[in-house]
Amino acid sequence: MISVNNRGFLEIPIEEFVISAEKVAHVQLGNNAEHALLVLTKTGYSSIPVLDMRYRLKGLISAQQITDEILGLAHIEYERLSSIKVEDIMKSDLATIHINDKFQRGLDLLVDNPYVCVVDDEHTFLGILTRRVILKQMKKYLYQSQA
Ligand code: AMP
Repeated sequence: MISVNNRGFLEIPIEEFVISAEKVAHVQLGNNAEHALLVLTKTGYSSIPVLDMRYRLKGLISAQQITDEILGLAHIEYERLSSIKVEDIMKSDLATIHINDKFQRGLDLLVDNPYVCVVDDEHTFLGILTRRVILKQMKKYLYQSQA
C-alpha cells in the first residue's frame, strides 16, 4: 500500500496540466470519415475530438469507429469513406472535465480514459488532460513525499 503524507496535490486545479486546444489535433462537424482517418493516421492518435464551428465539443472519433463502419461482409468498403460524416459515427456520450476542476477529478476520470476533454461552462473545447501528464505529476508528488 502506497502512503502519501501530503495529499494537497489532489486539490491543485487541473488548468496548469492541460494541453491547450491549439495543440490538439481535431476534426469538425461536417468533415467526412476520410478526412478524419487521414488526421488520425498522420498524427498516430487513437482518437481525436470533434468540434463545431464555435469550438464547442461535440464528440470523439477513433480509427476503430471508422473501420467498423466500413467493414462489409466480404471486404472493407473504402469507397464509402467520403460519404460518411464524422457526426454519424462519433461517440457523443463523453466524460469531460471542467477547466476549474481539481487534480483528484482528473485522476478519477483518467483511470478509465487515456485522456479527457477540458471544457468551460459553455462546453467550449479548451484542450485535453492526458493520462501521461497526470501520471508524470503523480510520480513527481510521490517521489517528493518519499524524500
Ligand atoms: P498520451 O497520454 O500522450 O499518450 O495521449 C493519450 C491520447 O490522448 C492519445 O492517444 C490521443 O488520443 C490523445 N492526444 C494526446 N495528445 C494529443 C494531441 N496533441 N492532439 C490530439 N489528441 C491527443
